[in-house]
Amino acid sequence: MTAAGSVFLKPGKERSLLRRHPWVYAGAIAQVRGAPAGGDLVAVHAADKRFLAWAAWSPDSTIRLRCWSFREADRIDEAWLADRIGAAVARRRGLDEGTDAVRLVYAEADFLPGLIADRYGDQLVVQMQAAGVERHREALLDALCHASGCGNVFDRSDGALRAREGLPGTSGVLRGEAPPDVIEVREHGVRFGVEVRRGHKTGFYIDQRDNRRRIADLVRAFRARHGRAPRVLNCFCYTGGFSLAAALAGAETVVSVDSSADALALARANAERNGIVSTPASAAHPPAAGGGVQWRCADVFEELRAMRARGERFDLIVLDPPKFAANHHQVDRAARAYKDINLNGLRLLDPGGHLLTFSCSGAIDADLFQKIVAGAVIDADVECDLRARLAAGSDHPIRMTHPESEYLKGLWLERGD
Ligand code: SAH
Repeated sequence: MTAAGSVFLKPGKERSLLRRHPWVYAGAIAQVRGAPAGGDLVAVHAADKRFLAWAAWSPDSTIRLRCWSFREADRIDEAWLADRIGAAVARRRGLDEGTDAVRLVYAEADFLPGLIADRYGDQLVVQMQAAGVERHREALLDALCHASGCGNVFDRSDGALRAREGLPGTSGVLRGEAPPDVIEVREHGVRFGVEVRRGHKTGFYIDQRDNRRRIADLVRAFRARHGRAPRVLNCFCYTGGFSLAAALAGAETVVSVDSSADALALARANAERNGIVSTPASAAHPPAAGGGVQWRCADVFEELRAMRARGERFDLIVLDPPKFAANHHQVDRAARAYKDINLNGLRLLDPGGHLLTFSCSGAIDADLFQKIVAGAVIDADVECDLRARLAAGSDHPIRMTHPESEYLKGLWLERGD
């Protein structure tokens, strides 16, 4: 395709593009030549007219340009987009060994700004979150089907990001058959039902795969070391990902908390899928030793305090809350919320226990998150070692020139004896 226009940046505003960061904000633009429409290809130039990048024009977004390529010789056409899709799918090969839920395309990290494509078995679920990929929807879908061998594609472009691009939300069948209400996937031996039509994101938190596996490893290691099975608490459990991994690895008790009754209904169904019998959920009656798997519909902030008042104790705790900070303005409030759950979580952790704690707020970077959790460790008056920093699985690559692709950060802490 030929460029529909040329964009010239204000003096000095070329710096982030020279570091190959793929976004240009509206305020950095000095002049637009031509009349590009949403999603059109434009050439981006510095104030001194130097070529900087090829980008897609997003007239309604504060991120006005999303770069496809920084190489002037590249021809950005449908063949180029198909090559990017092919490369994204190819770099996931081998990753699907333990699972049939894989992110095949991760937006900016795969040089396809705004495009998410997840595979659940032979079903693809896509999100087109920027004008550029929206413009080339059909070509991208053809390339995705070709590269992945999947014929069924469902659209979940109904998130908040589309509105910021001035695009209407869309959802529905794009290719092939309509997906069943629940698609069953298997991840490292655990079965999960995924609702691609109405679940969070594209239906499942694929990004936590490695960390769900880690909790299973921790359960086994705890048993080997302490000669007894651990008591596990999973806060913000959604459809039971960490809970089922822990239960199947042999945890003594798994208490899971979420405020969504719908998510908990799916979590229970997922437990049944794996032959796990849930104990009646009643926050007022904590499970006895060997109490199995219990789902509690409650607010985590309140429930952590209530559990402390009841004297409940745990050996392994997972805190995987939703995004507390949607943007930079919400960082302070979010920091207080992270501090609160980590402090009250640590107060329930027995000596020798482990905490896996996460933040998926892009606006809170890894350093700040670690500082917040360190503050909670101090206030809880416990000693903890940082055993490892955790991240999303390698199907969510972190592009070094686009730090925003590292949204999921986790810390694995071990409490001293
Ligand atoms: N750990 C999950 C994903 C967590 S998503 C997994 O691996 O699949 C975040 C969850 O937090 C959602 O299910 C949402 O219902 C729940 N949630 C949000 N705010 C909450 C609150 N204050 N108390 C309890 N649950 C909450």
